[in-house]
Amino acid sequence: MLPYITMRCPYCNSTDSRVTDSRPDIEDAIIRRRRVCEQCGAKFTTVERVQMRDLVVRKNSGKLEPFDREKLRRSIKLACRNRDVGDEQIERLVTSIHRRLETETPDDTVTSALVGQMVADSLLNLDPIAFVRFVSVYRKFSRVADFKKIIDQIPEDNDDAVVCKLPKTSLF
Ligand SMILES: [Zn+2]
Repeated sequence: MLPYITMRCPYCNSTDSRVTDSRPDIEDAIIRRRRVCEQCGAKFTTVERVQMRDLVVRKNSGKLEPFDREKLRRSIKLACRNRDVGDEQIERLVTSIHRRLETETPDDTVTSALVGQMVADSLLNLDPIAFVRFVSVYRKFSRVADFKKIIDQIPEDNDDAVVCKLPKTSLF
C-alpha cells in the first residue's frame, strides 16, 4: 500500500493540516481542498486533478521537457495582468488547452510551437492586448516592427470587442 502523502503548510512547513472543504471545479476535472494548518492556523488550498497522460514538450531547439501546466498558467496570467480577465477564466483556459493537448495529439509529445499557437488563438478571442503581450514574449520580440506586424493582424473595428473574429493565425 502506498504511504499517505501529507501536504506541507506553505507557511510553517508542518505536515499537520486538516481539510475544511472539498469541492469539484470546472467540469469536475479539478478538486480544490481548503486546508487549515493545525500548527500555525494558516489557511491554504490544494488542487487535485486527473492526469490523463504525461505530456512532453519539444522545444524549437529540439530539447524535450515535461509539460508544465503551472508554467503555462503563469505565462497566460502575466499576459493578462491588469486586464479584465479573472483567475477563473485563466484556469479555464489552461484546462481547455491542456485537455486539447492531451486529446488531440497522437503521441505524448507536443511542440512548443503548437502550445504557443493554442494559447495565442485563445487569448486573441479573450483579450487582444493579452494576445499581443503573450506573442511578444513567446516569440521574443526584439524590434518595434515585430509588434507592428502582429498588431496589424488584429481587426480594429471594435476597440473593446472581447470576441474578435480573425482568420486562423499562423504565428509559430
Ligand atoms: Zn502552518
